[in-house]
Amino acid sequence: MWTLIFKVREYIKDQSGDLDNKKVKIDVLDEYFRLRRYENNGRIWTSGYNYTFEDIKNNLFNGSYPIRKELEPTRKKHDVGVKSNVFLNTIYNRDDKKYVSYFSEEEKQNVYLSLHDELPWNLTINCSHEENEEDKLERPNNTKPCSEDFYVKEEEIFMSGEEYYQRCTNCGYIVNIPKEILSLGIKERIDNSIKSNPDLERYNVLKSELESIENKGKTKALTNKN
Ligand SMILES: [Zn+2]
Repeated sequence: MWTLIFKVREYIKDQSGDLDNKKVKIDVLDEYFRLRRYENNGRIWTSGYNYTFEDIKNNLFNGSYPIRKELEPTRKKHDVGVKSNVFLNTIYNRDDKKYVSYFSEEEKQNVYLSLHDELPWNLTINCSHEENEEDKLERPNNTKPCSEDFYVKEEEIFMSGEEYYQRCTNCGYIVNIPKEILSLGIKERIDNSIKSNPDLERYNVLKSELESIENKGKTKALTNKN
């Protein structure tokens, strides 16, 4: 995608006629650059083709950022390329268009997630969420839900039977993660991680009880020793 949008930009930059339309196209393309830079971590990019001071200041770049030289246009005056198309209109004719970014963070996230098969970085669930009574997992002793929200993280999810679970990051309680929020790709990865680590469920059950006991402060003396 980088190569494609760099090439498209070079071509537009080379246009010497109809400068208003050229500017629209360059502005719109900047939003495609921002979209391409989007990562599933809540860090907001303001850079388009050119780097912004804000992104440099926020350490969004890994390593160096080359200074890019803009070349003088060489295409003939009458060769003005497209005036409008879906590529431009999707972004430019939005009612809610803002100065820097045309897509909302949520829209960028949706585009990203549909391409990468990941959970949103900011997905939370409440600790009191329970599965159906009939497939209910027996929770370890000493654990009960704290009713706080916590982040759902793929790498923390394990399975018991056909159900998915994650330990609450606040209290250690084993919370059911509804299957509906997990895409096929995610489920496959979780399946594989369980195959390579068959003790994952047992580990989580033990850890859940240990964390709740620790949270109650009953083993403070024990942990202090370590
Ligand atoms: Zn909890």
